Order: sequence, then structure tokens, then C-alpha cells
Amino acid sequence: MKKTLRDISVKNKKVLVRVDYNVPLDVNLKVINDKRIVATLSTIKYLLENNAAVILMTHLGRPKGKVVSTMTLKSVSERLSELLGKPVKFIGADCISSESKKMAADLNYGEIFLLENLRFRPEEEGKNALGEIDKVAMDAFAKQLASMGDVFIQDAFGTLHRSHASTTGIVKYIKNAAVGFLVEKELKFLGRVFENPVSPFVAILGGAKVSDKIGVIENLLNKVDSVIVGGAMAYTFLKSQGVSTGFSLVEDNKLDLAAELLKKAKERRVDFFLPLDHIITDKIDFINKYIPSEAIIKTTVDEAIPEGFIGVDIGPKAIEKFYKIIETAKTIIWNGPLGVFEINEFSEGAVKVAKFVAEATDNGAVSVVGGGDSIAAIKKASVDKKISHISTGGGASLEFFEGKKLPGIIALPDAK
Ligand code: AMP
Repeated sequence: MKKTLRDISVKNKKVLVRVDYNVPLDVNLKVINDKRIVATLSTIKYLLENNAAVILMTHLGRPKGKVVSTMTLKSVSERLSELLGKPVKFIGADCISSESKKMAADLNYGEIFLLENLRFRPEEEGKNALGEIDKVAMDAFAKQLASMGDVFIQDAFGTLHRSHASTTGIVKYIKNAAVGFLVEKELKFLGRVFENPVSPFVAILGGAKVSDKIGVIENLLNKVDSVIVGGAMAYTFLKSQGVSTGFSLVEDNKLDLAAELLKKAKERRVDFFLPLDHIITDKIDFINKYIPSEAIIKTTVDEAIPEGFIGVDIGPKAIEKFYKIIETAKTIIWNGPLGVFEINEFSEGAVKVAKFVAEATDNGAVSVVGGGDSIAAIKKASVDKKISHISTGGGASLEFFEGKKLPGIIALPDAK
């Protein structure tokens, strides 16, 4: 168990908090979805109530070590200020510049200061100004960040699977460190589901690629009773069994691996459910998530997809079958959409599954949903209040389910 915020004294201290405010912005650079900001409020309020001076740091987007004006945190500071009902200082200067350091040094207890986007600096992700991997540069940057605080609080669950300056590097220079309330809650929930699951335990996996989820599936086969696979991932599994998949998105170099995973599931007596039928189309623009008006859309009679067609959602038979599995589950984890859910016509699979997971939760199951797209499907189905735990980190929760230790957690001190 790691030290948590309650284990350390923060009174009259400068507290550096790593948060995950990687939120979507609209064309006017206003925050579209503030869920990640809201999720950190309990930690920030606790710090303010305990008379700490709070210095927040986060990344937003992928500026790749350069200042990108559309990725500034200005509107994030404004939204946070609205949510807290008090000013949040933001100066937009480089996060380790003398201006930022002065602001941190002058910050009074009970005040908040948000540093500008950490990823405007290449060192945050372990690189130097030339874009080369450079651990020495990362370390020096981490030391500069650390110089602004007396205490470090890790509350960015979404970045714990990364070894970056503000996640692992900084802990070398601030020994007084702990997890915040958000990370504490995530670890408790994921840990409980994973270490003591009530059977039947069902994992629902979707999304674009099998290759992203191989490790997760392998590890889950030791834990779950059933795996349900939808989304484009399902076609690689189906093709590996000799089923025709038309023009569907298939990872041809992963066919052997998919067959191997199905074999392992059988050996371990894990039921592995693939879609029994599909919604298919002959034309789709995957990049812009758009179907031309002349496109033909059909439902297949079974799992085979005819030549010239692309699978884009699970069909009605698959929905019915998946309902039967999910209905009786007592532990459910879900990551990845079951179809191209961004297009309304192909969102039925993901939306129905979201409703089934909510219904099972109403009937006593514990459900954990991670990954931006699955969460969007939960929202689209208006069942977000019914899910036991919605994880704030898709990638981090997947690595957790893969059985990997998260570097951002390993770096932190253990509780006595
Ligand atoms: P991932 O990031 O791997 O979870 O994948 C999410 C993406 O998978 C979403 O953008 C979906 O549109 C996409 N996806 C889901 N089902 C399919 C499908 N049948 N064909 C192509 N893309 C899909």
C-alpha cells in the first residue's frame, strides 16, 4: 500500500500536485468536458482546507515538446476556478521559467497556481530539445519542477502507466510524496475487482486492434469466466477461425496469435464470445467517421461477412447473446467500443451493451468501465450514474488489467 494524502502533513507546505487535465477543448479553446477536472476537486479542496499552497501540473494533448498555442491550459484554469469558486493563478509562462518559479515561491497558503502545459517541454517525456531520448535532461527537468514544492501528490491516474518527469522523475527529488484521493479511489476499486472478483466475472473488450489488448486478454484468461469481444478486434479472431470477414479491419499479422488466444481460452475453460452477426456496409470513411449517402447498410445472417463489405457493429443476434451473458454477471469490466459508435447508425451495439452493464449493476454486479470511447457510449446510453466505477484512465486501467505494475505508483513511497 502506498502513502496517501492523509498520511502526510500538508499544513503550511507548498504542495505540487500532478493532475490529469488532458481534457478536450473546442475551437474557441473552451473546455468541452470537465470530468477529469471535477475528479480532482476532493484532493484540491482537502489541500486548501488544510492550508497548503497548491501548485498544479498537468499535460494537455500531444504538443511534442513545443509550445502549441491551442494546447494552453488557460481555459482549464478558468474552468477549475469556476468549479472551486475561487481564483486559480495562471500565467502561461514556461512551467520551469523564472516567472513560474517566482509565482510558486510567492504563493500564499490557501492559494492555487496552475503551471502551463508540461508537454510544451520535451524533457517531460524524457527527450531533449533535439527530440532524442535523454534521461539526463528528463532528470534535470524533474529536479526543477520539484524545486517548487515541499510535498508531491500524485493524482493523475491517466498517466501512471508512463515514466515521465512529472510521474516518476520528480519523486527522486521530493521524498515527501503520496497518492491523492482520485488515484487512491481508482487503485482501491480496480484492485478490489481484480483481486476478489465475484463470479461470474465477464470482460467485455472492443475497439480497433487486437494488438493493443493482447496482454490484457492473456492476463484476463486467468481471472474471468467469460470474454466478450466486439469492435474491429472481433474480425481478427473470426478470420483466424476461417470465417470470411470481407474488407473489415483485420490485423493479418495477428491471426496466429488470435487463434492461440482462443485455444488458451478453451484450455482454461473461459467462454470466449465473438459476434454471431454484424451490421455491415460497403462504404465508410473511417477517418472522418462518415457514411456516404449511397452506401449500402445490411445485417448479416451469421458471423460471415461477404466480399466487398466491412463489419461496423455487432448485429441483433450478437446483442441478444451478449445480453444473456452480461445479465447474469456479478463482476464486469469493459474497455473499448463494440462498433464504429461515433456514427449513430453503428452505435447500437455499444449503447445496448452500456444498458446491459447498467442493468446488471442494478442487480448487484460490480462494473468498471475504462477508455474514452466506452465511457462515451455509457454517456450516450445515459447510464453513467449506474456504473460502479468509471475509470479516469483508459490506458492505465488496461495496463492494470494486464497485471503490469504502474511506474507512477512504483516510484512512490510505501505506507509504513
Ligand atoms: P480503441 O482505441 O482500440 O479502443 O478503438 C476505438 C475505435 O475503434 C473507435 O474509434 C471505433 O470507431 C473503432 N471501431 C470499433 N469497431 C470498429 C469496426 N468494426 N471497424 C473499424 N473500427 C472500429
